Amino acid sequence: MTQYEPVIGLEMHAELMTESKMFSKAKVVDSVEAAPNTAVSPLCLGMPGTLPVINEKAVEYATRVALALNCEINHHNIFARKNYFYPDLPKGYQISQYEQPLGVNGWLDVELESGETKRIGIRRVHMEEDTGKLTHQDDGTSLVDYNRAGVPLLEIVTEPDIRSGEEARAYAMKVRQILRYLGVNSGDMEKGVLRVEPNISIRPVGSTEFGTRTELKNLNSFRVLADGTAFEIARQTAVLQSGGKVVQETRGWHEGRRETFSQRTKEEAEDYRYFPEPDLPPLHLDDAWVEEVRASLPELPDAKIARYMAKYELSEYDSRVLSEERAVAEWFDTACTELAEVAVSHGTTPKSIANWMINELFRLMNEAKLSIDAIQVTPAALVELISLVEKQTINNNTAKEVLAEMFATGTASANIVESKGLAQISDDAAITAVINQILDDNPEQLARYLDGQEKLRGFFVGQVMRQTQGKANPALVNQLLDAALANKK
Ligand code: ADP
Ligand code: MG
Repeated sequence: MTQYEPVIGLEMHAELMTESKMFSKAKVVDSVEAAPNTAVSPLCLGMPGTLPVINEKAVEYATRVALALNCEINHHNIFARKNYFYPDLPKGYQISQYEQPLGVNGWLDVELESGETKRIGIRRVHMEEDTGKLTHQDDGTSLVDYNRAGVPLLEIVTEPDIRSGEEARAYAMKVRQILRYLGVNSGDMEKGVLRVEPNISIRPVGSTEFGTRTELKNLNSFRVLADGTAFEIARQTAVLQSGGKVVQETRGWHEGRRETFSQRTKEEAEDYRYFPEPDLPPLHLDDAWVEEVRASLPELPDAKIARYMAKYELSEYDSRVLSEERAVAEWFDTACTELAEVAVSHGTTPKSIANWMINELFRLMNEAKLSIDAIQVTPAALVELISLVEKQTINNNTAKEVLAEMFATGTASANIVESKGLAQISDDAAITAVINQILDDNPEQLARYLDGQEKLRGFFVGQVMRQTQGKANPALVNQLLDAALANKK
């Protein structure tokens, strides 16, 4: 039987979080929270006599994305009218870019589950405006909200380089991460500010021609992207293997049945009759401006991961976890800077900061459902706590309790250690006194130990720790206990 290979290209739409819309002063508002039709200007409604003006901030945000996705920037940008009729589009056309998009020939490296890295080509990144939003009601009527009409929108289109639903998901998640890093989009797919549409076809393995594609629309999560794509690959394979033909069409995802269904075939597809937008001049971006935007880009996840591994000797896994979100990475970076500023005679390292964040801080954040911007523990406070452990003022277990207290109250670690009397006992004489007392109080166990039952040593360690409420320095306890037991022999 013929073996087939999937060919997938992704289109993503990302709203840009500017103050105002792409071509008007109307505000960009949260489409879920804001009351409908409260952020609308005559231009959003396509009133006669209105004229668009390009939002500079939106162009800057779009350029950030195009640069972060390694695109070449077109200095001469043309806006184009994409004509079609729909109730969510009162103007009767969407202003988009067609022949001269902002960014072209980009790429993004994506890490796959196998551990491999795959480079996905990015064909174009172009600016456009969003449409309004329709809500279809059970009684057959529909409601329209024009708050979203005219919100700056970016379309990001890949080359057909993707080969599975998993790859599609990994790519889309990475784009989302970068958009969030750049501060241009919240990545909130449930609110529709980020949308993904895969184009999917299959071809016989070895063939260089593309098969007929279908496009999946309105996928609202990364899981649905992966599952819908996998379903479509399997469906098309079954069609071809039974001698049928794949029809070029737009398909939707039925969550209940977990399958795709036909929405619109190619024959019904519109001809958008693109032409250059007569109400807008070409947009010229000069080199100096583009370079300014490039220089303002934050350090992106891949660069952070590489830096953490090279400079701090963190594992790739830890580096990835810390770079997942920009705010977390910056918190870690601040802690490392604090560390460099504290005069260190002890062994506190970025590696120990990473461990404390990943193992303890993240657990406390999860339990409290707090993001890193919302917690009371500062990077400097964590560094101070870790240094108390490294200096053996407190042991590891006590430090975990102290961190929980810091997290709950925002109190500095030294104050908690002091007020609760948690400081570790590292005084030889004090520990020896406790040991001698334990040996005196347990003559039977001592006799058995001296008789050869060596495992009773653990019993004595336990008793000493209990007596000191866990505050005795464990290394000292072991050392001094051995000395005391040797004396008894
Ligand atoms: P359109 O403008 O009609 O949406 P594009 O040529 O811009 O078409 O392609 C849209 C997306 O579909 C791109 O990501 C592209 O890589 C992908 N694509 C194009 N042809 C195919 C195909 N035969 N199979 C799978 N993906 C395809
Ligand atoms: Mg398209």
